[in-house]
Amino acid sequence: MGAHAMSNEFKKNLIEDAAQAAVLVVGAGIMGAGIAQVAAQAGHPVSLYDVRPGAAQDALTKLQTSLAALVAKGKMPADAVADLLARITPVADLQDAARSTLVVEAIVENTEAKRALWQQLEAIVGADCVLASNTSSISITAMAQGLRHPERLVGMHFFNPVPLMKLVEVVSGLHTAPQVADGVFALAQRWGKVAVHARSTPGFIVNRIARPYYAEALALLHERSTTPVVLDACLKAIGFRMGPCELMDLIGHDTNFAVTQSVYQANFFDKRYMPSLLQRELVDGGLLGRKSGRGMYDYAEGAAKPQLAAPQTAEFPARSGVQLHGNSARMDAWGQLLAAAGVAFSRDLQSDWTGLATPTLQLRQTDGRPASSLGANVAVFDMAFAPEGSRVLAWAPSVRASAACADEAQAWLGALGYQAQQVADQPALVVARTVAMLINEAADAVQQGVCTMDGANQAMKLGVNYPAGPFDWLAAWSAHGVIAVLQALDTYYAGERYRVSPWLRQQAWGQLGGA
Ligand code: NAD
Repeated sequence: MGAHAMSNEFKKNLIEDAAQAAVLVVGAGIMGAGIAQVAAQAGHPVSLYDVRPGAAQDALTKLQTSLAALVAKGKMPADAVADLLARITPVADLQDAARSTLVVEAIVENTEAKRALWQQLEAIVGADCVLASNTSSISITAMAQGLRHPERLVGMHFFNPVPLMKLVEVVSGLHTAPQVADGVFALAQRWGKVAVHARSTPGFIVNRIARPYYAEALALLHERSTTPVVLDACLKAIGFRMGPCELMDLIGHDTNFAVTQSVYQANFFDKRYMPSLLQRELVDGGLLGRKSGRGMYDYAEGAAKPQLAAPQTAEFPARSGVQLHGNSARMDAWGQLLAAAGVAFSRDLQSDWTGLATPTLQLRQTDGRPASSLGANVAVFDMAFAPEGSRVLAWAPSVRASAACADEAQAWLGALGYQAQQVADQPALVVARTVAMLINEAADAVQQGVCTMDGANQAMKLGVNYPAGPFDWLAAWSAHGVIAVLQALDTYYAGERYRVSPWLRQQAWGQLGGA
């Protein structure tokens, strides 16, 4: 079978006429059941198979119940649900689905089991049938080994819950025919999803680029720089729906640790992806998160919920002698607040730092360098990415700052309307550090041809609900700014974790302009 012939066949059967294109879903667990639902909703006759007898029928019964609830709430018409359900047939034998045009596999996450399934299926389905795996971590290239037609195997990575999550990563291994990947891409769109092409590399797009969201939080906690509730609040302040600690508690530390380890191992133990001892301890202690009743937070009934430092309604510490540094929307907003409060100030728009100066304090937006490396009367505060979602803001005084100086910094931030949270004085505080690392990881993924910039943005927004894509943040910041933060981290920690992506360096050179 030539890839081109397959592509035409595939396009004709699967994309243009769903009713004529039978889909086989193998594995009737949480993902398989969702994939069967989405395929049936798009009009395909669907066979559902599971190695455990009765599992496919059980999944269909569960689906009936959940869709009946949607009908009762008026969210889906009863006849559409009846049609959808009638299109799904549990099968007890793979032979019963020999005429399938597409197989989507969602069985146990094990290379040998998946290879064995594909080899078994190749003897059953026709030569023009496309084979798609929903694996979240196994190499598509490795999985194709032993197939007679490895060019028809592709990754079709859905996100949980499948009917609700819009993203599908279409993953190509070395053997995958481009026409097959393009066909599955078009099909996913027909199923109402947003498809993004990815090259088969560890973690694909989402599970790779998301690593620093957890890793930087774990590193900060490991160093006892701050607490989970502060970390979560700081990141929610820039629009994340969940902070990293509550999200890890929801995913389960066992699952998250397993993914971290698999990405670390698959990258030949690159320190960038090194798991945290803290994670290991939580897993070893059975503190798996919500599902075990305790992780970073305690979910027991009546357990005290940790609180943030309360908002401070401070007076402006001075009425004159104030200078605002830098030319940014945030400094414009601060200027308006000062003016409204009748505080006399001047502006230095050409300054090489951003923030506020008085005769006794420099209150500087982080450029990566800790306050302690900048002087005694210095405090740093975190970056914001417009629009500021909440007023929670991390800040840190120099270790040499007097108590009066630290109090002054806290009072300015309070008077400017922030719920300021003091953290340890390490490079780039919380938000700047995390976002710089997310951008750096995405930059490497683009450099290595894993995905495009747009693909990375879409994947992170739709696969894990990020408030913006990594390259949206980069556009609001600058390659120079991100590099400065990464270099400050690298100087402070020394190691491979914070090495700058070559792609970012090239961007920064490109922005220099001139000769
Ligand atoms: P699950 O445990 O809920 O379901 C797996 C099902 O496959 C089970 O019903 C099991 O009986 C069946 N099965 C196992 N081996 C089989 C075989 N050889 N032939 C037929 N059926 C077999 O797992 P899940 O969460 O639905 O995950 C399935 C796949 O989807 C995995 O590859 C996983 O990595 C991937 N995935 C999971 C998620 C998620 O959030 N759960 C997200 C994306 C991708």
